[in-house]
Amino acid sequence: MHVIEHINSSTKTAFSFEILPPLKGNSIRKVYAVIDKLLEFDPKYINITSHHSEYLFRDLPDGSFRKVNLRKRPGSVAIASAIQNKYGITAVPHIICKGFTKEETEYALIDLNFLGVHDLLLLRGDDKGLDPARQTSDEYHRYATDLQQQVNNFNVGISVDGTSFEANETPFAYGMACYPEKHEEAPNMESDLRFALRKVRDGAQYLVTQMFFDNDKYYEFIARCRQEGIAVPIIPGVKPIVFKDQLHVLPRVFRSELPEPLADELRKCRTDDDARLVGVEWGIRQCRDLIAHGVPGLHFYTFMASDSVYKIAREIY
Ligand code: FAD
Repeated sequence: MHVIEHINSSTKTAFSFEILPPLKGNSIRKVYAVIDKLLEFDPKYINITSHHSEYLFRDLPDGSFRKVNLRKRPGSVAIASAIQNKYGITAVPHIICKGFTKEETEYALIDLNFLGVHDLLLLRGDDKGLDPARQTSDEYHRYATDLQQQVNNFNVGISVDGTSFEANETPFAYGMACYPEKHEEAPNMESDLRFALRKVRDGAQYLVTQMFFDNDKYYEFIARCRQEGIAVPIIPGVKPIVFKDQLHVLPRVFRSELPEPLADELRKCRTDDDARLVGVEWGIRQCRDLIAHGVPGLHFYTFMASDSVYKIAREIY
C-alpha cells in the first residue's frame, strides 16, 4: 500500500518514523533495534533519510592533512528494501538531489523499482560539506521541483538523457517537504507557498513539515496552504528535544522557534537528561493537541531521540 492510501484509510492517526542509515561501517542491526522497539505503535510507513558525501580533512601521522570525500551514511536504498522485506511495512527512502547527479538518481530509481519500493520522499537535501562546483554543474538538479520532474518523467518511461524506456508497472508515488516557519532561503512565505503549491500540482500526494514546536504555527500554516489551494494531507513533523543546547541550535540551524514556555523550561535544565524529560513532556502535549485537531498523521524524527519518541508514542498511541 502506498503512503497516501495508509493516510486516507487509517482509522486513527497514522504514525510514521524517520530513521537514518547507520554510520558507514556500522551494522544494520542498529536500525532494526530502533524499529523493533517502535513496532508496537503500528507504524504505517518508515522513512529512511539520504545523505550525500562530504569533503572532510583527515589528519595524517606526519601532522599534515588530506582532503577526503566521505559518504558517512550510505545505504538508503538497500535499507529501505531490507526494512520493507523484514517488516512488511511500506518503506519511504528519501531521494535528494544535492550531491547526487541526475544519472545517479536514475540508477537509484531503477534499483528501487526492481526492489519493489515504490514510495519516495523527494527533497533537495542539505548543502553541508558539498563541493560548490558540484552544486552549480548541470549534472545536478537545483531544487526538489527539478528532481520531481525527473521522477515524473521516469514514471512515464522517459530517461534523463531523453530516451524512452518501458515505464514501470508501479509508478513511484511520493511526498515532499514544507515549512510552517518558512524555509530559511525563501524570501517570504508567499514564495515558499508558491513552490509548495507547484509540488502538489505536479504530483506530490502529501507534504511533510519541517519540525516545529509551536502548534499554532502549524495550524496557521495549514490555513494558508488551504487558501492557496494546497489540498493534500500535510503531515506534522515532530522531534523531541534531547539536548539542552537545542534551545539555541534549533532556532539557528532549523529556523524552528521554541515557544516561550518550552524555552523557559529548557533554560532551567542543568543536564541533557533534564532536557530530555522536558522534551518528552512537551512532545506528549504537542502530539495530544495535534491529534485533537485531527491531523492526518504524525511523522516522528527519531535521530538521536528514539527513546524519547518511544516514550511519547506510548502516551499518545
Ligand atoms: P526545495 O523544495 O528545493 O526548496 C528549497 C528552497 O528553494 C525553498 O526556499 C523554496 O521556497 C525554494 N524553491 C523551491 N522550488 C523552487 C524553484 N523551482 N525555483 C526557485 N526556488 C525554489 N535533507 C537531507 O539531506 N536528507 C534527507 O533525508 C532529508 N530529509 C528531510 C525530511 C523532511 C521531512 C524535511 C522537512 C527535510 C529533510 N531534509 C533532508 C532537509 C531538506 O533537504 C532541507 O530542508 C533543504 O534545505 C530543502 O529541501 P526541500 O526539498 O524543501 O527543497
